[in-house]
Amino acid sequence: MNSQDTPNRAGRRALLRAGLTGAAALGAGLTLGSSPASATPTATRPRPSTPGAALRELAAGNLRWRTFREQHPDETSATRQALTTGQHPFALVLGCIDSRVPPELVFDQGLGDLMTVRSGGEVLDEAVLGSVAYGVLELGIPLVLVLGHQSCGAVKAAVEADISGARLPAHIQYLADQIRPNIDRTKEGDARVDATIDANVRAIRARIAAEPDIAAKVAAGEVAVVGARYELTTQGVHRLV
Ligand SMILES: [Zn+2]
Repeated sequence: MNSQDTPNRAGRRALLRAGLTGAAALGAGLTLGSSPASATPTATRPRPSTPGAALRELAAGNLRWRTFREQHPDETSATRQALTTGQHPFALVLGCIDSRVPPELVFDQGLGDLMTVRSGGEVLDEAVLGSVAYGVLELGIPLVLVLGHQSCGAVKAAVEADISGARLPAHIQYLADQIRPNIDRTKEGDARVDATIDANVRAIRARIAAEPDIAAKVAAGEVAVVGARYELTTQGVHRLV
């Protein structure tokens, strides 16, 4: 693949790597980033147009959230009116259905900022993948964030069903079937659930990144697909690599 890189493409990739590394480096400890929140919300905010800029905005928003300094951006009458004619979300978050992890809240974003796709255990199937592809290919969103979370009930149920052999009620078994290949059997008990939460995010991230149309954009430096995890205890998000 390297032999096909043009200097421009290689340059963009280097910039992308620098951007993501910078954002990750900002996240001392268990955080996605720690850039300071700006003081005042504005009616029309500049839209992050690169993967690195999108990641930094999510990191800044999560910092505001976990330090109780939310700005609740992009909720004004002017914003609502402006968005009647189109949408330009800067990040797509694929997350769990858990009521404690709503992306717009934990990243302190507003109307038109995030495209959110949610399923139990952020399970990826055709409908979810089609939704992600729509955001990336049709809306030009530069960042896909796969967001798992601490104490995920869907992952816990899948791990327990795998151990007991019991079938879960109705269509819930479908979620467990999708999560099962990602179970980390090197761990036991709660540690297995916790490790599987991370392994599940990594597997889903890799599968999205391997989609040919999306992979081409990643190779061009136009899109990044990033795995991350939200901690209920700290309200912080950190990257999973
Ligand atoms: Zn969950």
